[in-house]
Formats: sequence, C-alpha cells, structure tokens
Amino acid sequence: MPSIQQAADFQAPDQCLAGKVIAVTGAGDGIGKTAAITFAQHGATIILMGRTTAKLEQVYDEIERIKDAPQAAIYPINFEGAAEKDYEDMCNTLTQEFGRLDGLLHNAGVLGQRTPIQNYRTDIWMTVMQVNVNAPFMMTRALLPLLEQSQNGSILFTSSSVGRQGRAFWGAYSVSKGATENLVQVLADELTDTTGIRVNSINPGATRTAMRALAYPAENPAVVKAPADIMATYLFLMSDASIGISGCAFDAQPATQ
Ligand code: NDP
Repeated sequence: MPSIQQAADFQAPDQCLAGKVIAVTGAGDGIGKTAAITFAQHGATIILMGRTTAKLEQVYDEIERIKDAPQAAIYPINFEGAAEKDYEDMCNTLTQEFGRLDGLLHNAGVLGQRTPIQNYRTDIWMTVMQVNVNAPFMMTRALLPLLEQSQNGSILFTSSSVGRQGRAFWGAYSVSKGATENLVQVLADELTDTTGIRVNSINPGATRTAMRALAYPAENPAVVKAPADIMATYLFLMSDASIGISGCAFDAQPATQ
C-alpha cells in the first residue's frame, strides 16, 4: 500500500478518471470547485452539488471549456435544510440519469464559531453538525445502492487536522471532523468485505479558500497552498490507483502536517 506521502506525490495519468461518474459537494467554491474541475480534466463526468446555483453554473461553464471533458451536471442542494426525502429524490434522479456512481467527494463544510465551548451557540453547533456530519451520513446512506452499481466505488470524506486531534476554540467544527473520521472507519469496516466500495478521509491541510481566510484572518494568503496545489491525493483516491485501500486517513499536504 502506498504511503500518505506517495499518495500526495501521485502523478495522475491523463485520463485516469475516464468513464467515471463522480459527485462533488461544495463544488461551487474553494477546494470542491478545483477538485471538480481537476476530476473533469482527468476524464470524469462530474455532478456538481452545492447551495449556490450561480457558482455551480460557473464551474459547469469552466468544465465545458475543457477540451474533451464530459458534460457535467448540476444538482443544487442546501445541506443545512435537506432531509431524508431530499436524499431519496437525489438517489432516484441520479439513478435515472447515470445508473451508477463511481465516486463521491464529501467536501462541503462550514466553520461555525471559533470560541470556547462554554460560549458556543447551540444553533450554530447544530448547523455545523448538520452540514458537516449529518448531511454526509444521510447522503451516503441514500446513495450506497448507486455506489454499489460501480465496480470500484470510492467515497472520500473531508476531514481536518482538528478532526484528528481536538483543539481549543474550534468547537463544533473540530467535533464534526472527529465524527467524520469515525464515520469513515465504521463505513469502511462495514463495506470492505461485502462490496467493492472503499471509504477514506482526506485532510486538505492549510489551503487558500474563503474558509481558511475566515479561520485565519491575519494570515497572508500568499503563504498558503492553492487548491490546485493539493490535488494529487484527491486524484489518487478517486482513481483506480487506490483500489483496495479503505478506512485510511490521508493528508493532502503530509510534509506540512
Ligand atoms: P469554502 O468555504 O471555500 O467552500 C465550502 C463549500 O461548501 C462551498 O462551495 C459552499 O457553498 C459549500 N457549502 C457550505 N455550506 C453548505 C450547505 N449548507 N449546503 C451546500 N453546500 C454548502 O471551504 P474550503 O474549500 O476551504 O473547504 C472544503 C472542505 O475542506 C471543508 O470540508 C473544510 O472543512 C475542509 N478543510 C479546509 C481547509 C482549508 O484550509 N481550506 C483545511 C482543512 C479542511 P457556497 O459557495 O455556496 O457557500
């Protein structure tokens, strides 16, 4: 099995995702936007999911401009308010349109407050847990039958360094990412022997996005990696190079952890 460093050094073959159908959440901005475009550049049909349709349309247009990239699809959804029925509808729509799902990148997330637990607002706590944990759980459960239609489905959850080790003042975000790591372990353990689906987590590491700027307002963004700089591990985990690897926690920037 390749090491985390080898995954981060992965030299993705040109069309390593050709023929694959991959859903990306939070695809309108930040890391999700770059992941969607990068996957399309490597041959995948991308289902762009997120809450701001105008942003998804922009990404759709960018993918249209990539030579030979398959046409993308847009699936607007707000994970804060989505309920079981919405995920059932999602499964039905994707079944009709695509018949299977080869990859699912759970990337959408919210930061919440940076404050001690004692001061943490309950409504914000609930929102962070809903978007970062409950929504990926409901969506994964609903889409498992579609992932089973793939020969080698890959589910990738997005974690954080504060999900691996809790940190003061990171509140619900830290707890939600810790829960995400555990969900990966539970799911991987359940699916490994009975399906071809692999389940892993990725910690992007410090990456120049709106969320990073919110978390570190005093940081000079120029010193932080851009989303395009961290795509090797994402490509590794979505491509067949990672078949057989499940239940593992990856770092997209291992050298800086
Ligand atoms: P951004 O804030 O730049 O992007 C987050 C994306 O999630 C946006 O597309 C946003 O949509 C979408 N989103 C947020 N809330 C909802 C919702 N309720 N329903 C649907 N979509 C929603 O964040 P990053 O790109 O930085 O983060 C991506 C992932 O990486 C997150 O899971 C984050 O926790 C993780 N991460 C990021 C790090 C970093 O340094 N950037 C470090 C460690 C982890 P919209 O654009 O419409 O608001």
